[in-house]
This record gives sequence, C-alpha cells and structure tokens, in this order.
Amino acid sequence: MQRRFSRAALLAVSPLLVAAPLLTCPAQATPAEGSGVAWEIVEGLTTEIGPRLAGSPQEGQARAWAEVRLNALGFQNVKVEPFKTLAWTRGEEHAKLTAPYAQPLAIAALGMSTPTPAKGLQAELVYFPTLDALRAVPDGSLKGKVAFVDHAMRPAQDGSGYGPYGDVRRRGPSIASQKGAAAIVIRSAGTDNHRNPHTGVTVFAKGVTGIPAGAVSNPDADLIARIAGRGKPMKIDLTLLGKPFPDAPSGNVIADLPGRDPSLPKIVLACHLDSWDLATGAIDDASGCGIVTAAALAAQKEGKTLRTIRVLWAGNEEMGVTGGGSKAYAEMHGDEPHAVAMESDFGADKVWQFRLTLAESNQAMAERIKAALWPMGIVYHEGAATGGADVSGIIAKQELAVVDLGQDGMHYFDLHHTPDDTLDKVDPAALQQNVDAWTAVLKVIANEPGAIARVPGSKGEG
Ligand SMILES: [Zn+2]
Repeated sequence: MQRRFSRAALLAVSPLLVAAPLLTCPAQATPAEGSGVAWEIVEGLTTEIGPRLAGSPQEGQARAWAEVRLNALGFQNVKVEPFKTLAWTRGEEHAKLTAPYAQPLAIAALGMSTPTPAKGLQAELVYFPTLDALRAVPDGSLKGKVAFVDHAMRPAQDGSGYGPYGDVRRRGPSIASQKGAAAIVIRSAGTDNHRNPHTGVTVFAKGVTGIPAGAVSNPDADLIARIAGRGKPMKIDLTLLGKPFPDAPSGNVIADLPGRDPSLPKIVLACHLDSWDLATGAIDDASGCGIVTAAALAAQKEGKTLRTIRVLWAGNEEMGVTGGGSKAYAEMHGDEPHAVAMESDFGADKVWQFRLTLAESNQAMAERIKAALWPMGIVYHEGAATGGADVSGIIAKQELAVVDLGQDGMHYFDLHHTPDDTLDKVDPAALQQNVDAWTAVLKVIANEPGAIARVPGSKGEG
C-alpha cells in the first residue's frame, strides 16, 4: 500500500529538509522491477492478457499464452485440456442509499448473482451485524426487502479470517434467499480501507432461488453501519445486472518436466490461470503460476529430478465450486499415478510456515524437508496440509500426500478480488523467496526414491 505525504506535512515534521530538492514532489514509491521466470510470468500474464474471468474469451487467450510460454521454457507434453463449466458474466452495476440519507455506494456483484430489473430494485435495506443474525430471522420474513450483512474480518498471518468471514459471501446470499429477501448486499470479505468492493463467488444451495448479490467496500459498509445505528429506516436503489453463464468454455493447461524414472508417481504443482475481472489478477493467481513454474525449472537446473514434475495451470478456480479445473483434472488424470500435490494460491508475500500431510513411513523425508526450510526461517506447523482448490480433486481421488507452503497473509485480503490486484503489489524479492522455498522442497520430494504416501494403507503409493 502506498502512502502519500503532502509536502506541507513533511515540512512540518522536518524543517531541516526544507531545502532538499527531492521534496519538490510528493513522495511516490516506484514499483520494483523484477527478473527471472516467476516475475516474467506474472508480468507477462498481467500485461499481455490482463483480467481473465473464467469462461471468458480472455481466459481462452490466457490458455494459448500459457501453452506458448511453457513450451518456450522447455516443458514437455504441454497440453490445453478444455472443459465446460458454469461461469458468470458481470453486467452494469451501481447502488445508492436513498433514505434516510442519499449516499452513493461503491459496489460489485458477486459471482453467480442473478440480475435485478434493468431499472434497479428499490427496497428497504435491513441491517444484520453478523451472518448468524441473518440466520436467526424466520424464513420468509424478509419478503421484498434487501438484507445487508456486516462482519468483522481482520488480517491474520495465516489468512484464517477468510474461513468464517468469507462465509458471509459464500453462504450469505443463499441464506438471505431462504429468508425471502429480494437481494443481498454484504460488507466485502476484505481487510483494507480502500473504497474498493471485493468480488468473489457465492453459492446458492440446492433448491434455493438465486437472488441479486453484491459487496460494498469497507468504508461504505462502515457508513451503512453508522446510518443503521441512527435507527431510521434505510432504503436502497440497487442495480446488479450480472448473470450466470452455463456451459462456458474453460480449460486446464498442463506441462511436464520428465524425471529420470518416468514410471515413478509424479509430483503435481498447481496454480490457477483464471482471475476476477476487476483487475489483472497479479496476486490471484498469476503469482502462483510464476512460483510453481519457476520452482519446477529451478529444481531441474542441475539435472533431471528422479520423479516427473508436472505443473497444472487450472481453469475456472474462482467459480469452480461445482466443477472447475480441479474436477476436470481429477477426471482426466485420475488414473495416472501421482505422489504429492502442492498449490500456490495465496499471493506473493514471503513464505513463513509449512505443513505436511505425510505418512509415518515418510518421516525421514519429512525431516529432510524441515532441514531444507529451516535455514530460510520458514517454520513447521502441526496440522494437516490440505493443498488447495486446484488440487483438491486429485488429492481426494488418490488420497495424495500434500506439502503446503504458507505465505504471509497480513495484506493478502487487502487486495484479493479487488481492482487493486495489480503487478505493482508484487514484491520481486518476496516472489523469488517463494520460488526458492518451493525449489528447496521439490529437490527433496522429486528425488525421493521410496514410496510417498499420505497415510499408511491409503490409495497413494504406500
Ligand atoms: Zn486464487
């Protein structure tokens, strides 16, 4: 986040700096220039493709871009694997409070929102401080009204606030529909105070009718909370014209760096190629694709690893809850032996912790992973490594071993799914630290000669 100081403020705190020629302009940080494979992928994808919403022509262009890039980097068996998916397209969107005070609102529709009438929806806005408060009202009681759901998401180093508070976005619209609401507006699932709404997908439960659903920026949610506190009825004029788009074209891109023994189960490293449409998807998830791809190459820099390393640049992660790239990969490659799955989809800040889901029989390998990461100041955390959305399908199907490298999440949800998810937010040094950590892990697991398993007796190799 850049912070600009006015010249007057600087002069006030430091009279000695009055004559300094550098102060003739307000201070402005220049984004750092990076280099290397990871940076080139993030820079290239965000510059030459940009926003790449799942199912859109831009996501298709990103697949073609990925195919060319992965071949040029020396990967083998580079393939685009198309699939059809439920996607969503954004439409015109705006909102304002009309009572008790006229106030414009910064809003973005959530993925899978159904459209309001073209001329907008004018209705009473009912304030709920939490998702539980919305759950507590009787079914049907919000007929003809718009629900507003507030929450208190705060930054956390491991990003764990996204679980409970992300549910306001994921489940809130479905619950509001069950209560009879004509539409729902939520406080963004985000931790910044920019006037940027955070988009993201919502999921209407089976049998529940879709309703228009949008998120307002945190400052706008603060405003609504203050007005609600004054106790006068609120009215909203809401226009959200985005709508679901069934059978949209999407696809995965896969590419291999063959190992010395191709008969051994492979290591799969995933990221996702699609992004939300409000920005260029630099941290979510061009960075992930840059990190896993650069690390795969770095692990083979001094010669082939024993096992094949595959990268999976998945299609439709963002809206793939009912069947995106993860499901398609598991269907197409579920019969090929895999050993370990890993995923990078939490931005580009430094890796600070790791988790392992490995069988007791792989204790020696686990110790080698720890020994490789400790010198980098990366700490071991108990608890299961779960991979992520893009590898969840294959992990479930084959009960795979998993290694999670956890990035610092203190700023991730300032940018996540907003117009601020752009290249200048990626710190090239932190991006490279990710690559180095992934490379260190890969050198251990991709050279492991013994069977790798999740738990003894699982369908994995063990
Ligand atoms: Zn993501």
